[in-house]
Amino acid sequence: MRTSWEQKLDQTLTKVGLRSTSQRQIVYSVLLDVRDHPTAETVFLRAKQAVPEISMATVYNCLDALVKCGLVTQVNIHRAATRFCPNMQEHGHFYCDECGKVFDISMASPAGMINIPSGFEPLQYEVSISGRCADCRDWEIPG
Ligand SMILES: [Zn+2]
Ligand SMILES: [Zn+2]
Repeated sequence: MRTSWEQKLDQTLTKVGLRSTSQRQIVYSVLLDVRDHPTAETVFLRAKQAVPEISMATVYNCLDALVKCGLVTQVNIHRAATRFCPNMQEHGHFYCDECGKVFDISMASPAGMINIPSGFEPLQYEVSISGRCADCRDWEIPG
């Protein structure tokens, strides 16, 4: 029995002329499993648990294919290593400088907050905010 994400992966890869391979399935399932925006290195370590013989080069190749077909986005936040995100809804990222975690932040179209030169047509937004997450923040005692 094929699950729906496998079918979606199949169809999406086929559309851009790529094949759905078992490695690509594993890499995609790793990303869907724990949505904490892992780096390629972390994806590799997790994929290795399922397929001990998988190589780093294969993982890079799979991530590349997933990004190319639009199922996964690359998240680049200042100096940090590239992260991977399977959330294809329009969303931004909050990067915690303290613990290094990356959180999805939902957003309405940010067009209203950004001054886009007149006549320009924005097609894609990339919003990243850095700071401290709720767990890392020193809460000030009010009063
Ligand atoms: Zn934090
Ligand atoms: Zn994300």
